[in-house]
Amino acid sequence: MSEKQDKTKVVAAGRRKEWTQGIVNPPVWRASTILYDDVAHLRASGASDTHHRLFYGRRGTPTQWSLADALTELEPGAEATLLYPSGVAAIASTLLALLSPGDHLLLPDSSYDPTRNFANGLLRRMGVETSYYDPLIGEGIAALCRANTRVILLESPGSLTFEVQDVPAIVAAARDRGIATVLDNTWATPLLFPAIARGIDYTILAATKYVVGHSDVMLGSVTAAQGRYAALRDASYQLGQTASPDDAWLGARGLRTMAIRLEQHGRAALRIAEWLKTRPEVARVLHPALPDCPGHALFQRDFKGASGLFSFVLAGGGEKARAALIDGLEHFGIGYSWGGYESLALPVDPQRFRTATEWKAEGPVVRLQIGLEDPDDLIADLAQGLARFAGMRG
Ligand SMILES: *Cc1c(COP(=O)(O)O)cnc(C)c1O
Repeated sequence: MSEKQDKTKVVAAGRRKEWTQGIVNPPVWRASTILYDDVAHLRASGASDTHHRLFYGRRGTPTQWSLADALTELEPGAEATLLYPSGVAAIASTLLALLSPGDHLLLPDSSYDPTRNFANGLLRRMGVETSYYDPLIGEGIAALCRANTRVILLESPGSLTFEVQDVPAIVAAARDRGIATVLDNTWATPLLFPAIARGIDYTILAATKYVVGHSDVMLGSVTAAQGRYAALRDASYQLGQTASPDDAWLGARGLRTMAIRLEQHGRAALRIAEWLKTRPEVARVLHPALPDCPGHALFQRDFKGASGLFSFVLAGGGEKARAALIDGLEHFGIGYSWGGYESLALPVDPQRFRTATEWKAEGPVVRLQIGLEDPDDLIADLAQGLARFAGMRG
């Protein structure tokens, strides 16, 4: 069979007849109790691995398995996927599955803030030490690895400042030392960066973002490379992690259009990023496909394309001037999260979250999620915003 293109894959993935029962979308199978024919049948189903077998609602039904299978199929070389009630639950469960007291964890200084909070909170309390590294460290990561380093987490690009990491170099250093690699791949998804094929052991999606695509469901996923699934499954079962069938169904519905949405988000975002770069009110545009972005050459080498989230640094000004820009926008909501059909603008302050590197910038930073509106309307809106900013900056 020939290798299928992404748009074909997201339509077909996970739609095994066992899960769909012969209709187009798998039904929502809601369950806590599963009824057994007799005691012998009940006893036989009690084995520890109930993956893809009805056992008890917490272990899922064909609705969740269909989405999990679909995400596995999008990652060549993967063994299996588990779903979680949020992206943060997926990150926390993966780290808990891999780390024990006395172990050492490496996190990029550009990490998603709640990932830092988990490392500095619960993981520290259970005796795991975390060191933060420069996301641009590349093969230099080797010097930070210790005898007790068990996990290197990567997030590429970082979701506030968009540094692109040298994933192959970090994977090579980790492999040599028996260290597991965990990638937060929410920005690229497997369509723009097939993480397992590039040597990552566990790839995580905040499916809340592009998989769901409509800003109305919280969902996370972890896809494990061959031989890596059992450890994740055992820990996640012990933690009672489960995603509801209704949410999984909405995730699967979103997935069917993810390839065409990503293409549109990516095209519009790049156009807007290039336009912002021409503006005198803007000092720098942090978009991996533009040369201003740290790690741009790695992006060109490793990624199949860009999605719709990026930041820009204003030329001077402060909090008030930035707020004047954002507050008056007509087409951009002000809010957390991203990956939905609607555009968002967010003030971000990277200096608040850094410990290993220093964030230096010419002015405050704005992060944009570019939705599916017409980019001409978004540009006109931003032009007025920049005029408000310039007026306030003086
Ligand atoms: C949103 C986000 C998460 C967390 O996902 P939730 O579903 O909101 O818990 C993790 N990583 C990145 C990069 C994110 O943007």
